[in-house]
Amino acid sequence: MAVPKSKISNSRRGQRRSHDALPASVSQECPSCGELKRPHHVCASCGTYDGRDVAEAEA
Ligand SMILES: [Zn+2]
Repeated sequence: MAVPKSKISNSRRGQRRSHDALPASVSQECPSCGELKRPHHVCASCGTYDGRDVAEAEA
């Protein structure tokens, strides 16, 4: 089994993890209502996608 030859210092470990942060979630303005929505997702406030009303009818 491969075994590390020496301990990774706190500094080294931190430098490696400096790239691990998740990016801030993106959002775009809905073209029909102006609310912020996620790209390629149905708008949560007005239920449209690509200019069409695709909201699911509630039972
Ligand atoms: Zn909308």
